[in-house]
Amino acid sequence: MSAMLIAIDGPAASGKGTLARRLARHFNVPHLDTGLLYRATAAGVLDRGERLEDVEHAVAVARGLALTDFDEDRLRGREMGEAASVVAALPEVRAALIEAQRRFAARPEGAVLDGRDIGTVICPDAPVKIFVTAAPETRAQRRALELAGRGEKVDFAAILDDIRKRDERDSGRSSAPLKAAADAITLDTTKLGVEEAFAAALKIVAEKTSKA
Ligand code: C5P
Repeated sequence: MSAMLIAIDGPAASGKGTLARRLARHFNVPHLDTGLLYRATAAGVLDRGERLEDVEHAVAVARGLALTDFDEDRLRGREMGEAASVVAALPEVRAALIEAQRRFAARPEGAVLDGRDIGTVICPDAPVKIFVTAAPETRAQRRALELAGRGEKVDFAAILDDIRKRDERDSGRSSAPLKAAADAITLDTTKLGVEEAFAAALKIVAEKTSKA
């Protein structure tokens, strides 16, 4: 059997991370949440006391990242998501992160990667591509629950506003904008629970890999 390589893309809080983790566990392959790379780049730039738009510093931080050992507690907070989408719009930063992601995807056993440009730029030849989406209000509700679970103060209107802003920035940028690959299957999780979304994803994987 060829490597089980699964590319998952979608907007913020669409459920792609949960789905990617479940699929990776199910197929016993490693998972890379590529959003963490952009979040860690933003955090590193801020730690240097520099502006997020400072290309030189952002590239230096991005080049120095290891794909493990992320301080997820810090990186998954609300501000870092916003900050990540600013550095992620810099083409030089994206270029600096491509090779490490492709290396991860090339593991012989396969891998699951989730992000915004996995099916379009990082792994255009992935046999399975899933574009996970959900209504902005549903995504805001999920993000609110997640942040409340982490002990953060939750303001639903502000979270919905964040999500809309981030959608706009991620879809509107010229470098690797968020969009479904032509051969991706869209999975709308607005009305699906975690288990239902996982079952639907398994079906997509089965269909795609049986044709491969
Ligand atoms: O998925 P997550 O919310 O952690 O991503 C944070 C930000 O990083 C996104 O809003 C997006 O701007 C950027 N990103 C990206 N390409 C990826 C993954 C994340 O541009 N493959």
